[in-house]
Amino acid sequence: MSFLKRYLFYLLCITPVALGSCTQEKVPTQPVIVIHGGAGYITKESFTTEKEQHYTLALKQALDTGYAILEKGGSSVDAVEAAIRIMEDNPLFNAGKGSVLTNQKTIEMDASIMDGATGMAGGVAGVTIVKNPITAARAVMEQTPHVLIVGKGADSFAMKTGLTIVSPEYFYVNEYEIVYNNLGPHMHNGSTSNLLKDPDKFGTVGCVALDQYGNLAAGTSTGGMSKKLPGRVGDSPLIGSGTYASNATCAVSATGHGEYFIRQVVAYDIAALIDYTGCSITEAVNIVLDKLEKKNGVGGVIALDNKGNFAMQCNTPGMYRAYKKSDGSSDILFFKD
Ligand code: ASP
Repeated sequence: MSFLKRYLFYLLCITPVALGSCTQEKVPTQPVIVIHGGAGYITKESFTTEKEQHYTLALKQALDTGYAILEKGGSSVDAVEAAIRIMEDNPLFNAGKGSVLTNQKTIEMDASIMDGATGMAGGVAGVTIVKNPITAARAVMEQTPHVLIVGKGADSFAMKTGLTIVSPEYFYVNEYEIVYNNLGPHMHNGSTSNLLKDPDKFGTVGCVALDQYGNLAAGTSTGGMSKKLPGRVGDSPLIGSGTYASNATCAVSATGHGEYFIRQVVAYDIAALIDYTGCSITEAVNIVLDKLEKKNGVGGVIALDNKGNFAMQCNTPGMYRAYKKSDGSSDILFFKD
């Protein structure tokens, strides 16, 4: 073929195919949503039927709200934010209203969100007047060049952005005064505590979702740990530790003793294992939680891959967790076994 003929052949045959493949629609994916409401000393013995009903209802409301968005063709980021907002507004969980107290009896909340399609992420830490910290985290992701904004700067950013602002008293629930008074002098989320057998003090919340376009997202929101020092930041607002999402691998949200999750970079470690070894989501979660346990870290994770496979694992007696898939399957679980 002469050069001219070859050029014409390329122009007429190859170029449209190449261009076509660029603009091709993605194959629709079956949506999946997975949520958690915290890991810790959650046991059958410490549960009444009434308590079970309250938590079931609360988790179902968050799950259904997020899933309805995915079902209508909404994005995984929208679903994650919406599901987490429902749990932040519910005083049963240690996030938003119902957050635990610092050792100064103040409330400081952390949250983050990550978009697996773009790799963009946002977080806030130590916010005190933002009704829904997860929405502030999303605003950081979408409206600033930053990833994490903390303290007064984060509160005033939320105010300027027009997010709902409330007085610090809004977040208080009486139960946490009792929890606070019963705790020893040290910070904890109760996971390892023998002092408290009350599951009410757990409840960091998180969500991972896969939308119809194959896009993953993850988010986490928390009041942190009871009796933490003011200014302490946990794993929840830290991308790679408490939250991570990438369409290439998976979306992860963690809960547990944050310092251990930070040191072990838990959420990213799960994604990296899948990336580097091609192992399954369940294998990756088991390996990383084993590593965590060897370092005495306690807690759990929810993780969802880009094909809709997911894992919900913890090394505590229980973790509030639930999932819903497009094949109609759905479940709400509390206890480890
Ligand atoms: N990971 C949270 C923190 O350390 C607490 C929790 O999940 O219970 O702030």
